[in-house]
Amino acid sequence: MNAVSTNDLHQWLNTILQPQRFRDYCPNGLQLEGKPEIRHIITGVTASQALIDAAAQRGADAVLVHHGWFWKNEDPCIRGPKHRRIAQAIAHGLNVFAYHLPLDAHPELGNNAQLGRILGFEPERTPEGEPMRCGPEDLIWIGRVPEGATLESLAGQVHNSLGRAPLFVGNPQQSVRRIAWCTGGAQGMMEAAVQAGADAYLTGEASEQNFHLAHETGTGFIAAGHHATERYGVKALGEAVAREFGIRVEFLDLDNPI
Ligand SMILES: [Zn+2]
Repeated sequence: MNAVSTNDLHQWLNTILQPQRFRDYCPNGLQLEGKPEIRHIITGVTASQALIDAAAQRGADAVLVHHGWFWKNEDPCIRGPKHRRIAQAIAHGLNVFAYHLPLDAHPELGNNAQLGRILGFEPERTPEGEPMRCGPEDLIWIGRVPEGATLESLAGQVHNSLGRAPLFVGNPQQSVRRIAWCTGGAQGMMEAAVQAGADAYLTGEASEQNFHLAHETGTGFIAAGHHATERYGVKALGEAVAREFGIRVEFLDLDNPI
C-alpha cells in the first residue's frame, strides 16, 4: 500500500485549493497534525465525533472534511464535545484536514461544480471558459437547467438525485431556465441570485425571510439540505487524492437530515 507524507499531502491540497485566496470563517488546511505518513484517509462532510470515531475504528491516518473545527464565532476553549473530538483524534494519531470555502469554490472538484454536475445544470461560462459566478466571494454559480423544467419538476428532480425531499417556495408551475446555486448554508445570499436574474435559487438551508423574498421577487427558492448538497465536493477531492498518490481513500456519508 502506498503512502504519502503528511507535509506533501498538505502542500498538494493547498496548491489545488489555494486557501490563501479566501477570507474564511475557519482555518483551512491541516487543522490537527497527526502521524507523519498517510496510507488511508477517511473523507466526509463534517469532522463530527461519529466521523472521528469511524476513522479511528478503521485505523485511518487522516480525515479530510469540508466542515472542520475552530470556527470564528465559537468559544475557542477546548472543552466538552470539542475536547472529546480532538482528544480522540490525537489518541489515534489522526491528521485532520479541512477545507471550507476553497472547497465550495473549486471549478472542478468543488461542492458547487459537483452539485451542478449531479443535478444536470449547465454552468454559464465566461469567454475564458470559467464558470459564471456572483455573490459574496463569488460563491454562487449560474447556469441552465434541463429544458422544460418548472419549479415543481425541478424540486422532484432534486429529490431523485439527492435522495431527500427539498423544501421549495414559489409558484410550482413557473418555468425555470436559469438557476443560481450555492451549496450549504447560503440562504442569506439569495438577493445576489435575484439580482443576477435567476428564475430560481437553490441552496442547502432555509431561513424565514427566503419565503417572503421568493414571493415578492418571483424567484423560486429551493432548500435541498446542507449535508445533501455538500457531500460531493469532498468526495471528488478524495478521489483526486487517491488518483494522485495511490493511497486508500474512503468516503463516509454519515446521514444528516439538515
Ligand atoms: Zn457547509
